[in-house]
Amino acid sequence: MPKKIKGGYCYLCGTYRNTLTRDHIPPKNLAPRTSDATFLYAYACSTCNNKLSHDESKFRDFLAVTCSDESIPEANDAFEAFKRNIQRNDLGRAGMPHKDLVRILQGMGKKDIYTPNQIYLGTAPTISMAPDIDVKGILLKIASGLHTVHTNEIIPSSYRRAACLYGQAPPYPPMDRVDDLHVLGNVGSFFHYRGGWAPDDPKAGIWYMMFYNTLIGLAVFAPPSLQEIQERSVSSASDEGNNEGKLEV
Ligand SMILES: [Zn+2]
Repeated sequence: MPKKIKGGYCYLCGTYRNTLTRDHIPPKNLAPRTSDATFLYAYACSTCNNKLSHDESKFRDFLAVTCSDESIPEANDAFEAFKRNIQRNDLGRAGMPHKDLVRILQGMGKKDIYTPNQIYLGTAPTISMAPDIDVKGILLKIASGLHTVHTNEIIPSSYRRAACLYGQAPPYPPMDRVDDLHVLGNVGSFFHYRGGWAPDDPKAGIWYMMFYNTLIGLAVFAPPSLQEIQERSVSSASDEGNNEGKLEV
């Protein structure tokens, strides 16, 4: 696929541009040594293509440290890239650890684990993603790309968007019109996905994404008219606490 094409609509913002740039799906830095031919692609304006690059590199660092798995070569490549990053400019920091390493260490902690019935199971180590990483933006960008690759549709800006990491927030209630997850795919061995779209509205969809066989993210695109259905789903789950803030974009 060419790196640039002339004339087209950006798959992220939907704007017509005279030049579009090729965007890797998922981000190239998740598997820096993997051949370009392994990735999926969509075409974006350069603003959208570059907007999340800092967040994507912090996200990659997080995955590299928390999901490193010897059976996944791409995860090891990402970990090596992270190590090179934090070892750079060692002298300038006068022995202080690199800020990207500090950020990940700060996210490490311990948490009491309970069953759904509040029976205490013990204390387990946890790693939480730094709050300055726009995880929702990253998941929505990747899912938009998957959606465009499989449907040739660009999700309109009026559509509602929601995304979360599985386990971090309550799973987004799957909507009955798009719960048929008929597409299953992978990019190399480091990224697997499953998703689908509504038969009567190919612009609405739901996508599960699994990174390095470990971390699962979820993104949902729904037309504005489904708002009421979503709000009903949220209120029926309200005994779980106030989920609304987590589900709203
Ligand atoms: Zn754009």
